[in-house]
Amino acid sequence: MNNKIMYSIVVPLYNEELVVQETYRRLKSVMDNTKENYEILFVNDGSKDKTVNIVEGICRNDGRIKLINFSRNFGHQAAITAGMDMALGAAVVVIDADLQDPPEIILEMIKKWKEGYEVVYGKRAKREGETFFKKFTAKAFYRLLKSMTTIDIPVDTGDFRLIDRKVCNALISLPEKNRYVRGLVSWVGYKQTCVEFVRQERFAGETKYPLKKMMKLALDGITSLSYKPLIISGYLGVLTFIAGIFATIGVIINQLINRINIISLPLILSINVTMFGLVLGCIGIMGQYIGRIFDESKGRPIYIIDSTINYKRVDKRYEISC
Ligand code: UDP
Ligand code: MG
Repeated sequence: MNNKIMYSIVVPLYNEELVVQETYRRLKSVMDNTKENYEILFVNDGSKDKTVNIVEGICRNDGRIKLINFSRNFGHQAAITAGMDMALGAAVVVIDADLQDPPEIILEMIKKWKEGYEVVYGKRAKREGETFFKKFTAKAFYRLLKSMTTIDIPVDTGDFRLIDRKVCNALISLPEKNRYVRGLVSWVGYKQTCVEFVRQERFAGETKYPLKKMMKLALDGITSLSYKPLIISGYLGVLTFIAGIFATIGVIINQLINRINIISLPLILSINVTMFGLVLGCIGIMGQYIGRIFDESKGRPIYIIDSTINYKRVDKRYEISC
């Protein structure tokens, strides 16, 4: 039998003690169906609960299961990146740990891959068990991002996808730090298709994506793929400048011809506050880009690995021998 690994399943984990055992069970039963070699890479992104202990137990009983343990919480996108960096398979599947993405869909993805598609992404036809706020903000964000870039980014699509080795190699060659992986997958191109699925309710536990992390991901997506916010700030500046000229002319004419003094302290104050807000907002947008340029210039790694289990390879990027 050929020993080469055909499929690598990358699972990011952050405080998932309530789900990880079940995730392993479901993934194992699906992947055993393929009758081909596979590995499951659990990437522990600095969990503070018993996630690591549970995965260690799984790894002891099953050599195909690998644990990559970060030195702290580096974020979901960093965990996915590490999994892709270390995956050995001919096809790499990224899936969340909480079983919102049904593992059974992987078989459909594999079918499409065998038909010749190099990226098969999971498109959420429906989302179950999520709050109205989450569904609304996600829907709005995907559409906003699409309107901001010329790259064809599929809407309602998360990180649940299968990518071919070629695509994985292209992705890991991109050095950028604040990664929005699903956008980068669209950016690299290749032959892409989707399989639709109903996003399930979380198996257990709570979302590990509070509003702060969601905002960071959204800003990473926009800033890494589009300059439009900067261009819009420029347009806003020009528009307010023109409006200011007209307003000034209007005030002068009124004073000269009609002798009406429309200037009042409340009016001046409210215009000032509005303009101040606009200027600060535009500086804030610039700050988002400058902060990310700063991150790039520091050249720090995207993540740091503390330890691994069942993983035997020298990592090219960070020279960590395990
Ligand atoms: N996750 C992670 N690091 C983080 C946050 C989340 O590795 O800092 C993992 C988490 O364990 C899960 C996946 O990323 O496997 C998606 O997180 P979650 O399901 O909480 O996000 P949601 O589905 O609510 O958007
Ligand atoms: Mg989830």
